[in-house]
Amino acid sequence: MSAVETAMRYVLLAAAACFVLGLHLMNHPARARRGNQLSAAGMAAAVLAAVVLLVADGAITTTGWIVFIVAAAFGATAGLYTARRVQMTAMPQLVSLFNAVGGGAAALLAVADLLHPGAAGLPARVSLPAALDIIIGAVTFSGSLIAAGKLQGIVPGRPIVFPGARALNLALGLVMAGGAAWLIARPDSRVALAALVLAALAFGVTMVLPIGGADMPVVISLLNAFTGTAVAMGGFVLGEPSLIVGGALVGASGGILTKLMADAMNRSIPNIILGGFGTGDAATASTAAGGGSVRSVAVDDVALQLAYASRVIIVPGYGLAAAQAQHELAELGTVLETQGISVEYAIHPVAGRMPGHMNVLLAEAKVPYPQLKDMDEINPEFPQADVALVVGANDVTNPAARRSGNAISGMPILDVDRAKSIVVIKRSMGHGYAGIDNELYTDPKTGMLFADAKQGLAALVAAVRTFVA
Ligand code: NDP
Repeated sequence: MSAVETAMRYVLLAAAACFVLGLHLMNHPARARRGNQLSAAGMAAAVLAAVVLLVADGAITTTGWIVFIVAAAFGATAGLYTARRVQMTAMPQLVSLFNAVGGGAAALLAVADLLHPGAAGLPARVSLPAALDIIIGAVTFSGSLIAAGKLQGIVPGRPIVFPGARALNLALGLVMAGGAAWLIARPDSRVALAALVLAALAFGVTMVLPIGGADMPVVISLLNAFTGTAVAMGGFVLGEPSLIVGGALVGASGGILTKLMADAMNRSIPNIILGGFGTGDAATASTAAGGGSVRSVAVDDVALQLAYASRVIIVPGYGLAAAQAQHELAELGTVLETQGISVEYAIHPVAGRMPGHMNVLLAEAKVPYPQLKDMDEINPEFPQADVALVVGANDVTNPAARRSGNAISGMPILDVDRAKSIVVIKRSMGHGYAGIDNELYTDPKTGMLFADAKQGLAALVAAVRTFVA
C-alpha cells in the first residue's frame, strides 16, 4: 500500500468516526446542528479521499473522469438546489427522493460489479452482499419514488389495492430469492441479474402502493433504513469499510426510528413488511363519532382565557408548519411566560409531515428546548392545564384513536381532551392527514378559533398584550 493510500485510509477512518460522533450529537436538539455539520464534513472528507484514491489508482480513463465529473457536478447541484429551495412542508417527499437516489446508487454499484468481466470468479462473500444490495437498493428506489409521488399528490394517496396483490408479492419474493441464489452460485449470469433487478423494482412498487394515509411516515422511515442497509451491502461488495460504517449507521438509526414511529402510530413493523399494508388508513376509515355541536370562539375570548391561565400546554401540528406560524407561536409563548404563566409544548412523534417536524420548527423560532415535552412526559400533565391550545394539529389529538374501527385506532394521542379547557386554531372543520372527523372539536370544553394559524396567532399575541398591559 502506497503512502498516499495509507493516508487516505486514515482519512476514511476519520470520516467514519465523524459519522458516529455526528449521530451522537444529534441526540439532543441543541447539538443537532453541530452533529449535522460534523457528519457533512466527514462525508466531504470521505468523497475527497475516494477521489484521491482513484487518482492514485490510475485505473480510470479520461472518459471515465469526464463522466465522473459531470455526474458529480450534476448531482451536487441538484441536491443543493432542491435542499435549499424545498418548503418544510414538502420535506418528506424530498427525504423520500433522497432515499430513492441512495438506494438506487447502492444497487447500481452491485450491478456494475456483477457486469464486470471478472464477475464469474467472484466469491460468495462478494456475490451474496451484491445480491442483497440489489434487492434492498432496487426495492428502496422504486418504493421511495412511489412514496414521494403519493406525498406530492402525483400518485393517489389512498391505498391502491388490486385483486391478487398478495399472490403477486409472494411470486416476486420467490423470484428475488431464486434470482439471488442463482447469482450467488453464478455471479456472471445476466438472466439472474435481470430477474433480480426487475423483481425487486416491481416489489418496491407493489409494497408501497397499498399503503395510504397514516402509515406513510413509517414507510418513509423504513425505506430510509433500507437505503442505509443497501449502502452497507455495497461496502461489502467493494470491500470499503467507511461505506459499511456509514450505511450501517443509517440502517440502524433508520430502523430504530421506524420502530419508534411504528409504536407511536400503533403499527407493527412485521405487519408493514409482510403485507399488512393499507389497513388502518384513510380509505378504510369509518368516520369517527362526531355529531355534537361546534363552539366557535373569538380572538378576544381566547386571549382572556390565556391571560388568566396559570398553565398552558400548546399542541402544535401540521397546520403550524403549513402556515409557517412558528415565530408567532413562540412570541405568544414568550408573552405568556413573561406574565408568569407556565407554557409547555406537547410534541407528538408524528405531528406534522416528518419525524421531528415540530422540533425543527420550534427550534427555528428559538423556543427554549426545556419547554418541549414528549408525548409520554406531557400526557399526565394535561388534566392540570388550564388551557390546551391546539395549533393546526388534528389527528394527533383525536380521541377516536382510543376506539376501534377507524383509521387511527390504537394510535397513541396527546390527551388534549383531558385539559380543563381546549382551544383549537385551524381554518375550518377540515380533516387531518388520516381523513376522519375529530371529536375533540365537538367536546363541550373546546372552543374553535377558525383562522389561519399565522394570522390567528398574531391576532392573539396582540390581544393578550392588551389584556396584560
Ligand atoms: P393533521 O394532518 O392531522 O392536521 C393538520 C390540520 O392543520 C388540518 O386539519 C388543517 O385543518 C390544519 N391546517 C392546515 N393548514 C393550516 C393553516 N394554514 N392554519 C391553521 N391550520 C391549518 O396534522 P397532525 O400534525 O395533527 O398529524 C399529522 C398527521 O400526518 C398524522 O396523521 C400522521 O400520521 C401524518 N403524517 C406524519 C408524518 C410524520 O413523519 N410526522 C409524515 C406523513 C404523514 P384546516 O384545513 O381546517 O385548517
